[in-house]
Amino acid sequence: MLTQNLGYPRIGGQRQLKKACEQYWAGKTDLKELKDVARKIREENWHAQLDAGIDLIPCNDFSFYDQVLDMSTLLGAIPKRYSPVLSAVKDNSEIDLYFAMARGYQKDGLDITAMEMTKWMDTNYHYIVPEFTAKQEFAIFSEKVFGEYNAAKRTLGSKAKPVLIGPVSYLLLGKEKEPGFERIELIKKLVPVYVEIINRLKQQGAEWIQLDEPCLVTDLSKKEKEAFEFAYRSIANRVSGVKLMLATYFDGLFDNTQLATSLLVSALHIDLVRAPEQLDEVLELIPANLILSVGVVDGRNVWKNDYERSLQFIQKAIDKLGADHVMIAPSCSLLHSPIDLELETAIDPEIKNWMAFAKQKLAEVSHLAQIVEGKTDLLRVNKAAIESRRISQKVHKPTVKDRVAAITRADATRAGAFPVRQQIQQQRFNLPSFPTTTIGSFPQTDDIRQLRAKLKKGELTTQQYEQAIEQATIDVIRWQEELGLDVLVHGEFERNDMVEYFGEQLDGFLFTRNGWVQSYGSRCVKPPVIYGDVSRPADMTVRWSTFAAAQTDKPMKGMLTGPVTILQWSFVRDDQPRDITTQQIALAIRDEVMALEAAGIGIIQIDEAAIREGLPIRKAKHQQYLQQAVAAFKITAGGVRDETQIHTHMCYSEFNNIIADIAAMDADVITIETSRSQMELLQAFAHFEYPNQIGPGVYDIHSPRVPATAEMVALLEKAAGLLPARNLWVNPDCGLKTRKWPETKAALENMVAAAHEARQKI
Ligand code: GLN
Ligand code: ZN
Repeated sequence: MLTQNLGYPRIGGQRQLKKACEQYWAGKTDLKELKDVARKIREENWHAQLDAGIDLIPCNDFSFYDQVLDMSTLLGAIPKRYSPVLSAVKDNSEIDLYFAMARGYQKDGLDITAMEMTKWMDTNYHYIVPEFTAKQEFAIFSEKVFGEYNAAKRTLGSKAKPVLIGPVSYLLLGKEKEPGFERIELIKKLVPVYVEIINRLKQQGAEWIQLDEPCLVTDLSKKEKEAFEFAYRSIANRVSGVKLMLATYFDGLFDNTQLATSLLVSALHIDLVRAPEQLDEVLELIPANLILSVGVVDGRNVWKNDYERSLQFIQKAIDKLGADHVMIAPSCSLLHSPIDLELETAIDPEIKNWMAFAKQKLAEVSHLAQIVEGKTDLLRVNKAAIESRRISQKVHKPTVKDRVAAITRADATRAGAFPVRQQIQQQRFNLPSFPTTTIGSFPQTDDIRQLRAKLKKGELTTQQYEQAIEQATIDVIRWQEELGLDVLVHGEFERNDMVEYFGEQLDGFLFTRNGWVQSYGSRCVKPPVIYGDVSRPADMTVRWSTFAAAQTDKPMKGMLTGPVTILQWSFVRDDQPRDITTQQIALAIRDEVMALEAAGIGIIQIDEAAIREGLPIRKAKHQQYLQQAVAAFKITAGGVRDETQIHTHMCYSEFNNIIADIAAMDADVITIETSRSQMELLQAFAHFEYPNQIGPGVYDIHSPRVPATAEMVALLEKAAGLLPARNLWVNPDCGLKTRKWPETKAALENMVAAAHEARQKI
């Protein structure tokens, strides 16, 4: 019974790689120091996996920034604009070129933009998008994988398994940078380079090579399927004596099962956590000579594996294929798990006993193999933990469950229809046309962050802290009044993060000290853990919203985070459907909405920043997700009176196929991110004849650049050409917390001027 791992977190238990990279970028350390840190992390990771008894251990899963960018440098897919970097950086040329691609290059009179970054499938990890041209050539450029394999071989011997992204997914995850070709057609040019890489690794001694093809779990076109067949046939024809492990994860093979099981490889890995239902079909179609790696330990979550359940899958596979043709593995790379639960000394021991981070997951994989071989005492201990979670009163709150079960359609429906509400709200707020507002947060300066740090360390009393936050809030309100904004916000200075702030006040959430997961480059996030039924023991935002509202005669927006976004940016329960947890959070947010309304707050914004990114990988699952997401939002907003204006905000707004669902949310006002697309994204709203009010962002908050008034007027004219002018609001693309004050002030002054001009002209 063999075990394998697909990838291990590389940031280091103390985030050493983050610190080392950032110091290197700042010019504070040299390349040797950076490489030393990297080497230590790799060695530690390999030893952890060896100690856990894993049979096939990944190498080249380490990366200084991103594994997809590593592939681009390995394959020589380096966009032309970086050529000057190579001559500019003499000594550390390869790594500096690499970081230039990841982060842009502004030095030595050069100003070269970074490559684009986007989400890795449906995770919160971001990769660097490969760029392709019509005449794209590939040739081995970076020696990283060969060096890392050699080092791994010294430590791991024949257990070392180099990891590469497979050729088809590599192309599909990239982007055409000029018209006139389809990137999938580059497969013919790409495959020979893969053959060369694989043959070199084989000559170095590799017995197994892992090729990640996550795109096998996506909806594939005929052309894309043919590319898979072509690629793996060509590779099989030209390499021998090395075993290929084809890894799929994050969803099921489903209609691609026939394709995946017919590719000429030695082993196929499938994700049985995300898509347990695929096992039967895979077992049906898999040829007798293929080894099946069953991904049964969840690589994307923090819960202890239920051995009994996993063993059912493993046993089923063994019955069909024989024990020598089954491998046990985590569902996907452990990159997406925090590193070591043992570092968490503050978690309630009862709950901690239900959890597992990357290091513990390695042990689980190995335990499962040992249990199959007869060590049943391991099963008993696991069963006890699973059972304690199943019945714990810390998890299960009958009142919360009853409330969810009792939700009715009426709960999720506003009293009056939108046209009625619009009229009543107009009478109440008497806003001008093209009303101006912002998305919520204002710059979180070092001063503000330090206040929180000092409060945590006990250097400030709660009273001192709150006084300072009150002052910042008063200042920002005065300033908004002077500027002449129509609907004000309080600035969110009291919030560390838009999810954490709520999680900390809700029951059913816990927070780790060190549960970092890489988000992009050196950036990590520490998602909250939802472990139990969620409820709201007390008001969460009323104190700050009413304080702010009392400082001004203008309308003050109350500011909340919606249930889908809270769920999307947390580790979620795996013992009940996501949707049930979403509904529990929705009820808690609804209560907060009602409390704000009762406290006199007339405009309430419920942010659903992450609604688009939560869309499932497979189209077949979109409808259900959207239906549930919309329903959850409507639960949060459904209880208020017609005169209360509900806003929502969404970040990434490519809503082409889902406008109907966005409209079904029935928010009175939606603010979205559109400026970078020059209002292109509004076309879908226009086409749908989106009925409610909408604030298409008129400037990009991701850049310090201050847009001119005329630019924003032009965007508003464009918007007014697409949607009724009476429904348009004027606002930035998103919250301003990452910006500095000078550019924020300048940009908003211009924005208010643009709204004034629009009122005259449009
Ligand atoms: N209200 C939040 C803010 O302004 C919204 C942020 C977001 O959508 N990412 O910070
Ligand atoms: Zn946003």
